Amino acid sequence: MTETSPPTVAPPFQCIFCSGLGPFVSEEHIVPHSLGNDLLVLAPGWVCEECNNTCSGFESRVLNSSILGLERCRLGVVTKKRKPARSDVHRITWFSESDLPSNILSAEAEWGKIPMLLSPDGSSGKIVFPLHDDSCYAIARLLLKMGVEIMAPCQPSGSIAFQAASQHVLGIESDPWPYFVVRSEAVDNHLVSVLASLPEEHKYALSCGFDVFILEVEEEVVFFFRYGNFRVGICLSSRSTDWRHVLVDWDVPHVGCPIEFSKESA
Ligand SMILES: [Zn+2]
Repeated sequence: MTETSPPTVAPPFQCIFCSGLGPFVSEEHIVPHSLGNDLLVLAPGWVCEECNNTCSGFESRVLNSSILGLERCRLGVVTKKRKPARSDVHRITWFSESDLPSNILSAEAEWGKIPMLLSPDGSSGKIVFPLHDDSCYAIARLLLKMGVEIMAPCQPSGSIAFQAASQHVLGIESDPWPYFVVRSEAVDNHLVSVLASLPEEHKYALSCGFDVFILEVEEEVVFFFRYGNFRVGICLSSRSTDWRHVLVDWDVPHVGCPIEFSKESA
């Protein structure tokens, strides 16, 4: 028996997003630390300080006011200050309470101002959120950032493998980048985790609520991400959505995001 350990690749000390030569001070959490990840981390030397700061901007947007932020609260993540995470989505503040188990969400709002669909007798009702809102653009950037970082140690040193994706991450160009929210856990049967060969690490990632997958579809590299019940796929190598045919072939319902791609749904 030989012990296996995670493969380690020396940092290139050239930024994988901008090719800059630093400075490199911080380690880079591939899945944001605030989503509960302390496993998938790139050592200092992969992402420069300036790009790291750029990423912090859209990461906060996703964490504080998107569906992923809401899922983060449901999973019971606590902040660096040991407080339960909070997320403001469509004027409702969602949070977990430290004396309640995870998987229970509390909500606060000025309820009179929140549109509700009430039953005819007014005895029950529901709140409906649009899947498409401005946070989709920040989610796309975060997904691309995670995908590019996961692939970075597999790339030849000094090359920018996913140039268009990197430019989108940095906000150098801002045309919407498509991704697909997958609305069925059946997609899991078709994906193999990047961590599959490291059972201990994989188990730990799952206990934190996330998993990561890379799928090659023809010439394209597609990154899948799962966080709690949120499942999503995004192409790293181009904006092409041709790869979506695999979702159709697998018969998994999905929705194109941001809203410009909502017609590409099934
Ligand atoms: Zn950089």
